[in-house]
Amino acid sequence: MSTATPPAPVETKPELKVIEDATCTFCGCVCDDINLTVDVNEKRITKAQNACVLGKAWFFNHHIEERPEALIEGQPATYEEAIDRAADILLNSKFALTYGLSDTTTEAQRVAVAITDWSGGCLDTTTTVCHGPSGMAFQRVGEVTCSLGEIKNRADFLIFWGGNPAESHPRHFTKYSLMPKGEFVPNGRKDRTAVLIDVRKTKSAKAADIFLQVKPRSDFELAWSFRALAKGIEPDPSVEEKTGISIDQMKEVMEGMKKAKFGAILFGMGLTMTRGKHFNSEAILTLARDMNKHTRWVAKPMRGHGNVTGADNVVSWSTGYPFGINLGRGYPRFNPGEFTSTDVLARGEADAALIIASDPMSNFCQPARDHLASIPSVVLDPKMSETARVATVAFTTSTYGINAPGTVYRMDDVPIPLRPAFESPYRSDLEILTAIKNKIRERQLAS
Ligand code: SF4
Repeated sequence: MSTATPPAPVETKPELKVIEDATCTFCGCVCDDINLTVDVNEKRITKAQNACVLGKAWFFNHHIEERPEALIEGQPATYEEAIDRAADILLNSKFALTYGLSDTTTEAQRVAVAITDWSGGCLDTTTTVCHGPSGMAFQRVGEVTCSLGEIKNRADFLIFWGGNPAESHPRHFTKYSLMPKGEFVPNGRKDRTAVLIDVRKTKSAKAADIFLQVKPRSDFELAWSFRALAKGIEPDPSVEEKTGISIDQMKEVMEGMKKAKFGAILFGMGLTMTRGKHFNSEAILTLARDMNKHTRWVAKPMRGHGNVTGADNVVSWSTGYPFGINLGRGYPRFNPGEFTSTDVLARGEADAALIIASDPMSNFCQPARDHLASIPSVVLDPKMSETARVATVAFTTSTYGINAPGTVYRMDDVPIPLRPAFESPYRSDLEILTAIKNKIRERQLAS
């Protein structure tokens, strides 16, 4: 028996590289000041300087999963085979639905719009389930808007309505709105007044000077009371009982709003997805407009996904509308409720689906999920999502921002370039969608 001691394991130093000013696409803040340290051999991110807790989780949990390039009916396939089958599905459909788009690049979104146009189906994005009501309100009353940079440098009065940025957008307060020192607010937080309006006392309430706990389902009445006060009209006393806020409290806030040099209302899904929906968004947008009779005010939605704002921009500049569009007649028709994804699926109308970077099987209503599972579908996702599991063709893709370059839009409609950390063996959404589009056109032109 040998008594030789085994050789000591050789310690190898990891090969590290640093990507400066990388962009985090986890939430709509799209922070572009993240310094990433990458272990080149292990293909993983080991440090994410400046990222918040959500951003760190986004970067650190990113692994390249070992999967086939694509699956066709659950069987491994090459990209070429899958592209062929995807083109078949979309060309043979009469009413295909394109859905998702909020977690991919603007370049890929453009190609997805073109595919829907050539195949003549419905085009919808995840805006339909978050700020869709705001999209409808923008169509009706417009938007008094500005960039987050202007809010940072100018805003001395902030109203956060129906959102909890402290937990949903952790760097919004520190980087863009509440805390930073700006050109016209040199003392940062001390120069600003913050009001939080919500149905419950969230973590964000601690950061506000004034917290108004509005009764559930009465944001519309409160917004309309503020509109009345902005115009010098006394609200009906019944709004106190309805909203849970006294008229004196409303007047105190309105006085501060009128005295401000630059005010911003930043509203979230607590406003857009409760009773009133697009009427609530419309009330906030028109309140900001009314306030401009007194001083400068803007209103901006707080957007969730990294490039949902890009999806709104691309779809709007291509079709004139932000979501819920039908291109079947060769020109765009906008009708939320008729052409929105859950509706076309739950009514059993869509006969095929192209789902990009989204997982409707995890969050749509049961009738919509049942129908989606029963029709041919093409899914692009870096992960094996519930939707990818039921897909006829499931493409494995690289992750935007971490592996794939491109552009995303911050929640204030400012385009930001991506600086990927390392390459992925998988193709990007843009590459796959472009190949599908080319295949569709090739066959259409040949027929
Ligand atoms: S605030 Fe949002 S974009 Fe910024 S680091 Fe955190 S998760 Fe990423």
